[in-house]
Amino acid sequence: MRGSLLVDNIGELVTNDIGGEGGPLGIRRHAAVLVEDGQVAWVGPARDAPAADRRIDAEGAAVLPGFVDSHAHLVFAGDRAAEFAARMAGEPYTGGGIRTTVGATRAASDDELRATVRRLRGEAMRQGTTTIEIKSGYGLTVADEARSLRIAAEFTEDTTFLGAHVVPAEYADRPDDYVGMVCGPMLAAAAPYARWIDVFCERGAFDVDHARAILACGQAVGLGVRLHANQLGPGPGVQLGVELGAASVDHCTHLTDADVDALASTGTTWVSGFEPTTVATLLPGAEFSTRSPYPDARRLLDAGATVALATDCNPGSSYTSSMPFCIALAVREMRMTPAEAVWAATAGGAAALRRTDVGRLARGARADLMILDAPSHLHLAYRPGVPLIRQVLHNGVPQCRP
Ligand SMILES: [Zn+2]
Repeated sequence: MRGSLLVDNIGELVTNDIGGEGGPLGIRRHAAVLVEDGQVAWVGPARDAPAADRRIDAEGAAVLPGFVDSHAHLVFAGDRAAEFAARMAGEPYTGGGIRTTVGATRAASDDELRATVRRLRGEAMRQGTTTIEIKSGYGLTVADEARSLRIAAEFTEDTTFLGAHVVPAEYADRPDDYVGMVCGPMLAAAAPYARWIDVFCERGAFDVDHARAILACGQAVGLGVRLHANQLGPGPGVQLGVELGAASVDHCTHLTDADVDALASTGTTWVSGFEPTTVATLLPGAEFSTRSPYPDARRLLDAGATVALATDCNPGSSYTSSMPFCIALAVREMRMTPAEAVWAATAGGAAALRRTDVGRLARGARADLMILDAPSHLHLAYRPGVPLIRQVLHNGVPQCRP
C-alpha cells in the first residue's frame, strides 16, 4: 500500500527493542508507529508523531509485533479428530498416526493442499501471526515432498524440508535406504523451495546417526538446520542440534542438565541482541493435545537459554494455529511470565528463524503488528480463549477489521 500510515494513540506499545527502556519487551506508553513502504519508519511518543497520509486510532489499546510462529506443519490432507478423541479416552500418543496423514496427503490434489494451507494461514493471521514457518513431511516421496514445499513457498519465506518426519511404510524394513533417498534425490528436488532442513530425531522416527547424516547433507546444499528432539523421551537430539549450530531445537520436553547447559551455552538472545543462538522452541499445544507433561520452561530460562513458543500446528498432535493459546498455556502450565511468553512468541520466534526484520517494532523492521482489544499484553494470558486481536497489519497492510 502506498503512502504513509500512522498507528496512533497506542496505550502500551511492545517493541522488543532491547536497546531502549521498558524492560525486555521494550514497552513504551502513549506511543505511535509510522509505517512507510511496508516498514516501520518511526516509533515514538504519540505527541511527537509526524504527519501521515492515513491514520489508525488504537484508542489506547496495546500494540505488539505480529507473532512469529516458527514451527507449523500446514501442508497436509485429512483429519485425525477420531485419533484425538481416542487419545483423550486413554490411548497413548506414539507419533504413529503421522502415516495416516501421509496417505491422505499423497492422495490429495495440489489445489486441495493449497486450500488447506490458505485456510490455516488465514486462521493464524486473524490471531496475530504475521510470520509462519511451514514444513513438508507428509509426502515422503520425492515428488510429494517437492510439491509440498512448492506450495508452502507460495505462503512463506520460511519453508522447511522435513522428508525425515517418519520412515514411510514402504521403507519400514530398510530405513537406511530411505535415509539415502532423503539425502539424494529427495533433497535435490526439495532444496530449491526450502530455506531449512529438519529431522524428527526420536525413538520410532530417526536415530541420531541418521539425523546427523541428513542434516549434514542439507547444510552442504545451504539449508539451515532445525530439528524435532526430546519430545517423547530423553535423547541425543538437543546435543546434536547444538553441535551442528541449529537455529532451533523444537519440543525440548525431556531434557537432562547437560542438554539445558548445552542450549544455554549458545547464548541468550534476550540479553545479547539477535545473536545466532540455538533456540529452545517449546510447543505446548502438543503437550496439551497429547495430555503429556509440559516442558520445563523455567529451567531453560533460568539457565540462560533463548526460548521461543510456536504452535506445532498439525492434524495429529497439535491442531491449533493460535499463538495466544500457546502464550496462555506457557504462562499457566510452564511458569513463564506473561512478558517472557510474549517475547518468546514474537522475538523468540524470530530468533528461531534467524530473522531480524520481524518480531520487533523498531525503525527498519517489517511493519507487522497487531492491535489488541485490551490495554496490555498481559491480557493475552489473562483472558484465555478470547479473540483479543482487533486488527493486524502485515507488511504495513491492514489484514482484517472487526
Ligand atoms: Zn512438529
